[in-house]
Amino acid sequence: MAAAVAAVPVAATELGAFATEVAGCTNCRLAEGRTQVVFGIGDPNADLMFVGEAPGYHEDQQGKPFVGQAGKLLDKLLAGIGLERDQVYVANVLKCRPPGNRDPQPDEIEACESHLFRQISLIEPKVVATLGNFATKLLSGKPTGITRVHGAEQETRLGGRRVLLYPLYHPAAALYTPAMLKVLEEDFARLPAMLGRATEEPEQSAPARPPLAPEPAVQLGLF
Ligand code: URA
Repeated sequence: MAAAVAAVPVAATELGAFATEVAGCTNCRLAEGRTQVVFGIGDPNADLMFVGEAPGYHEDQQGKPFVGQAGKLLDKLLAGIGLERDQVYVANVLKCRPPGNRDPQPDEIEACESHLFRQISLIEPKVVATLGNFATKLLSGKPTGITRVHGAEQETRLGGRRVLLYPLYHPAAALYTPAMLKVLEEDFARLPAMLGRATEEPEQSAPARPPLAPEPAVQLGLF
């Protein structure tokens, strides 16, 4: 009798096994205060992956990223381009909630980044959209803030593969700033074409980037 063929793609099972491993992580101090590790959620074979900052109160309680107000806005923005949450993958730079939702500390990012890089290498997304400064700086490897680079795709290599990195404003920042929300919606609207290019013509290079906006004097955490 022929052996049964596995119905679940290898990446999905490997990602699940990795999630189980990370659930017990004690790489940094955030392990002490968390309810649970918030690993990530969505399609393990997604072409489009979003990377936010860190779990907040609700994410820590529920074990899923972006379930609060910022998550509702993310879902609305996805719906605006004809996508649902389960068609993409969503994760964060940090997998555990910083106390009082403070900014991630450099040593926490360093302790956690290998989890994100391994996630990316297992999911193999074509486009990685970074939400806010922390994800953008980590995955671009550059210190340039989100205010300058949002909406400008960058070709890079992550998890050993070529990906388009697409920095976006963080939805939590856009929630209370209508002008920022408008920019975020405009940047989101470019995603379908970008995904089409990335999936159909993987070797085609990105169009020339728009010129960078001047760096503002004050750079707040999320923006
Ligand atoms: N929720 C998350 O999971 N990540 C963020 O960056 C913000 C809210």
